[in-house]
Amino acid sequence: MNFHIMTLFPEMVLEGLRTSIIGRAEDRGCISIEAVNIRDYTLDKHKKVDDYTYGGGAGMLMQAQPVYDCWQALEEKIVQRKGTKSRSRVIYVTPQGEVFHQKKAAELSQEEDLIFLCGHYEGIDERVLEEIVTDYISIGDYVLTGGELPAMVLIDAVSRLVPGVLNNGESAQTESHANGLLEYPQYSRPEIWHEKKVPDVLLSGHHANIEKWRTEQSLARTKERRPELYEAYIKSCQFLQK
Ligand code: SAM
Repeated sequence: MNFHIMTLFPEMVLEGLRTSIIGRAEDRGCISIEAVNIRDYTLDKHKKVDDYTYGGGAGMLMQAQPVYDCWQALEEKIVQRKGTKSRSRVIYVTPQGEVFHQKKAAELSQEEDLIFLCGHYEGIDERVLEEIVTDYISIGDYVLTGGELPAMVLIDAVSRLVPGVLNNGESAQTESHANGLLEYPQYSRPEIWHEKKVPDVLLSGHHANIEKWRTEQSLARTKERRPELYEAYIKSCQFLQK
């Protein structure tokens, strides 16, 4: 899977992503990550990429031309590599988008190429968004200074679902949100820490009982911490039983 990030701060996303699990996955060739500097595409002789907004208002806006030319160069390169004319999905990370969730991560992990567009300042001229963006995605109902962190969040979540990225293929399937529930509590050595003992069932070696305990804990934790997820899960189970 190939991630392409259009940004004014390529070093920020590359430094953030090329560490730990995602960095190792890139070294092994499971994924590739490319960050392109939008500023390299401006036709302005002073390398400017932003300007005042029409109608007034605070702050600067990223202009359409450098964003469009940057996207066009990227898209042409991808089309040439793939040998097909089908356009890659372009995700504009924005607080005005659909809020990101695990199902969306699973859907995006099926793509061969994904292009991320990171805004800065007040955002990006609407006209170029209309021409190139296929998906508007937010990472939550709050506003950040730029799209770099949101793009990194999405790339991390999507990468984990790409075959070969995680060593233990099972862990992505049992984790929180994979089946609509939060994960059960987990423990490691020592058996007793601060006078707190690991639950006996986990030391019993009885796999069926361990599974049962984990399912109960998962349900109880979801009900307590995320009642809306719990309700949706119970409803979907009732629907499947009909
Ligand atoms: N003026 C915009 C608005 O009110 O919707 C906010 C612009 S924000 C200061 C600058 C950039 O940060 C955005 O273009 C977007 O790429 C990114 N950004 C900020 N918050 C975000 C969020 N919650 N999710 C995804 N991207 C976000």
